[in-house]
Amino acid sequence: MPELPEVETIVRGLRPILENRTFAKVRSYAPPSMVVVSDTFKKHKKSKLETLLPGRTVESISRRGKNLLISLSGNLTLWVHLKMTGKFRIVEPSTPRHKHDLVLFDLVSNSSQSTQNHLRFNDYRRFGRLRVYPNDELWLQPGLRDLGPEPLEIKADDFAKLFRSRTRMIKPALMDQSFIVGIGNIYADEALHLSRIHPTRVTSSVSPRKLVELHGHIQNLLKKSIKMMGTTVISFSGIYGLSGSFQKMLKVYGHEGEPCEHCGTKIVREKLGARSAHYCPHCQRRP
Ligand SMILES: [Zn+2]
Repeated sequence: MPELPEVETIVRGLRPILENRTFAKVRSYAPPSMVVVSDTFKKHKKSKLETLLPGRTVESISRRGKNLLISLSGNLTLWVHLKMTGKFRIVEPSTPRHKHDLVLFDLVSNSSQSTQNHLRFNDYRRFGRLRVYPNDELWLQPGLRDLGPEPLEIKADDFAKLFRSRTRMIKPALMDQSFIVGIGNIYADEALHLSRIHPTRVTSSVSPRKLVELHGHIQNLLKKSIKMMGTTVISFSGIYGLSGSFQKMLKVYGHEGEPCEHCGTKIVREKLGARSAHYCPHCQRRP
């Protein structure tokens, strides 16, 4: 699943393509479960992307956690979550539609109506979500209203206080979007390894000094990964189809059975709830 650096890479890629452009024709082949619109539109029977988007100009694109927020003229937002395999791609309009290309967007430039960009939303697993809400309803929606702080914005002291205030296992806490956003399996494993914290440690038992260290490692990892256009483990790629390159920097995720760079002990992968954690059993002592 794309995490903060991958979603940020897509936001930065989409900005010059979409901002100040206007949606022209929109075609959707997405199953009903993938498209969600405000009840306000349902009353007016304009509840489809094909009718809601054309004629609206993209004012700005931002990210909150792993959510992409595309602000449109007329006080609407197109809110996209890529989930497991959702992707945006810029292609030539004549490119044949792939069976997993689910929404096709034509965009025109406001300065010259002839300039066209063609954007596609592709999702092979079909867990992605495209939602349209009026701006005054947007932040009331579950999935946005309940998000924790941004890891690149929260101060080290506040980060330490947040973790000390709760008694829960640290790896699931790092991945809980209502606790702190944007971090998934990969960056949680890497940050805990760099901080030498076992994934099952209880948050309130970790010293404030250690938590400040973890905060620094998380910020460094995320910033470096954004610079390297994210991590491609299975399928992530940017809007022109290029893979990220941060996977080369990973020390534990996907490295089970290989020696730890610090001590030579074999990296293990252990089931932790529904997910698994990768760590060095010597550097990251079990509590
Ligand atoms: Zn080690």
